[in-house]
Amino acid sequence: MTDLPTAALGRLAADAELWSDFATLCALGGRVAGSESERRSVGWLRDHLGAMPGAAIRDHRFPYRGWTAESCRLERLDPEGPVPLVANPLIRSVATAPLGLEAEVFDIGRGTLEGFDTHAREIKGRCVLVRHEYMFADGHLHRRRKYNWALERGAAGILVANGAPGIGPVAGSTGREDGPGIPGVGIPAEAAEGLHGRRVRLTMATREAPDEGVNLIAEWPGAIDEWVVLSAHIDGHGLAQSAMDNGTGLAVVLAVARVLAPERQKFRRGLRVALFNAEEWALTGSRIYANALSQAERDAIVLNVNLDSVAGHPRLAVLTSGFVGTEPFLRGSAAALGLDLRLFRPLMTNSDHANFAAVGVPAFRLVAGFDEPASALRHVLTPADTIDKVAPGELKTAALFTGAVVARLLAGEGDGKAFRAGRGATS
Ligand SMILES: [Zn+2]
Repeated sequence: MTDLPTAALGRLAADAELWSDFATLCALGGRVAGSESERRSVGWLRDHLGAMPGAAIRDHRFPYRGWTAESCRLERLDPEGPVPLVANPLIRSVATAPLGLEAEVFDIGRGTLEGFDTHAREIKGRCVLVRHEYMFADGHLHRRRKYNWALERGAAGILVANGAPGIGPVAGSTGREDGPGIPGVGIPAEAAEGLHGRRVRLTMATREAPDEGVNLIAEWPGAIDEWVVLSAHIDGHGLAQSAMDNGTGLAVVLAVARVLAPERQKFRRGLRVALFNAEEWALTGSRIYANALSQAERDAIVLNVNLDSVAGHPRLAVLTSGFVGTEPFLRGSAAALGLDLRLFRPLMTNSDHANFAAVGVPAFRLVAGFDEPASALRHVLTPADTIDKVAPGELKTAALFTGAVVARLLAGEGDGKAFRAGRGATS
């Protein structure tokens, strides 16, 4: 009888459904939370997971603050007349007045805290222009922070420009909940050129209503009450297919569950697949899920393996959230496959693993292209996040690494106490 990791890797290497599932997810559309595309994707994922042998699957429903932009128009007010600019509303942006917001643009470049402070006087009452940054890098300044800095300094609105030309606007969330806000949109790099000092008119109507999201939870129990939580987020953006972010993570989770489910009699630990929703809305679905776990349930989770944007560049990285004790285990899994794995230790609150880490559960995010700003992952959150940016071999590599890690954990390898020890070191 072959052992679990060997069996899993053999079947993963030959698995053709990995790519066809990825293509199906891309074809389902951008999966914006609350959209028809997201609902159809949840249905497809539920059926797909439910068809795996021995799957006990349930919906974990949670309330969240629903939001849609009903209309959005941005114009540069030239002396000769208004010139329309492409603009994409940021999630949970507030609406403008019905006739729109007219203001001068103040370009502070990247949008650092220092830039906001230096120009605090000029920002007040103006539309502040900042840059979208490559998200998978050390030192990345999240859009939500820039949004809040603009809000705190009395900006009339915020324009987030794509850093790279020729791609179109960017999407993303403001991070705003029910509190005050300012209107915010993503714009293409070209639209930002020469915009400093010009007047613009932004007209946006939005609808806010309480909504219900669905996380999908599927379980295959093991011999003991310890669990490996394998997660990926379902929802994405409306600008494209949300292929890399996070069609790749979903397809890999399905592939790993599919090859492992028939081996469930050999599981020492249980496998729990968690497909979270409203991740793009400040990690809402996983936050509600992780916060609702009892201490005993948290203690029973040996590791959260969170997949988000796992292809688009050949090199994989693990963001280990300060759980130093997980690193030798992850390094070992990579070395056995001959992978050059990058390790990044400081907690990055950029995907669902952060909510597990926040309640003390060892958690890491697998991501491709970390600190590789020229990689295809620069297209995440833009109209270019499409299936053609992913090489089949990259997706396969992510599946093999994930499969190796999860299969070893399910077989009882990896010391849960060691994973929890030594937390706090961040360098
Ligand atoms: Zn993501």
